[in-house]
Amino acid sequence: MTTGMEQARQEMCDIGQRIWMRQYCAGNEGNHSMRVEEDQLLCTPTGISKGFLKPEMICTVDMDGNHLNVNQEYRPTSEVLIHLEIYKKRGDVRAVVHSHPPHATAFALAGMPIPEGIHPEAELFLGRVPFAGFAMPSKPALTESIVPLIKADTNAVVMGNHGVVCFGRSLEEAYYKLEILDAYCRILLLARPLGPPNLFTMEQMRELMALKETFGEKDDRLKNEADLENRITKSPFLRSFED
Ligand SMILES: [Zn+2]
Repeated sequence: MTTGMEQARQEMCDIGQRIWMRQYCAGNEGNHSMRVEEDQLLCTPTGISKGFLKPEMICTVDMDGNHLNVNQEYRPTSEVLIHLEIYKKRGDVRAVVHSHPPHATAFALAGMPIPEGIHPEAELFLGRVPFAGFAMPSKPALTESIVPLIKADTNAVVMGNHGVVCFGRSLEEAYYKLEILDAYCRILLLARPLGPPNLFTMEQMRELMALKETFGEKDDRLKNEADLENRITKSPFLRSFED
């Protein structure tokens, strides 16, 4: 019989394989974690491809980032500090995935914020995706560039010139945010040569937000409709068609 912890370690490996198979990470890039206890995380080891993780390679750290494994052969990812700060800020978050999915990373390289009011899946499952300026990987500045942008309804952040970080109430949910974000960016890039996208009206946005509420997904954007409308109609993505 497998214990909950064994299952969690296996899930860490399974999600790693999905990340690798979808080519969201090349080489040993990326990292993900799960909060398994109030004071304990499972996280990926440094220097191992996400496609070839084994349960015994998964590291356990406490909320101060101390490595708790008896077997010290595999060291936790250096970016576990970002994960820890996200968990500290948002008690509802149980898993964090950091990755370099090519289509969303294309937006990160161009400094192009993810546009709103275009695609129903993106509205229902992502909402507003903040854009963080570039910060050096594995340095405290990287955490400082991301964490202040995270609000109660945020579940993904684009990291300038780098990639994305997504989070959710389970590891699978955090992974789905990653998949949906990259699929949305891919669709935007495919549609790009066809001309500017049609935009949702505010009436349609209100309907989408009502539907979203029935899914139990949090979204605070209608608290400031004027801001939301402004972001939809004047997004840098839309303006890029005028050049
Ligand atoms: Zn990275």
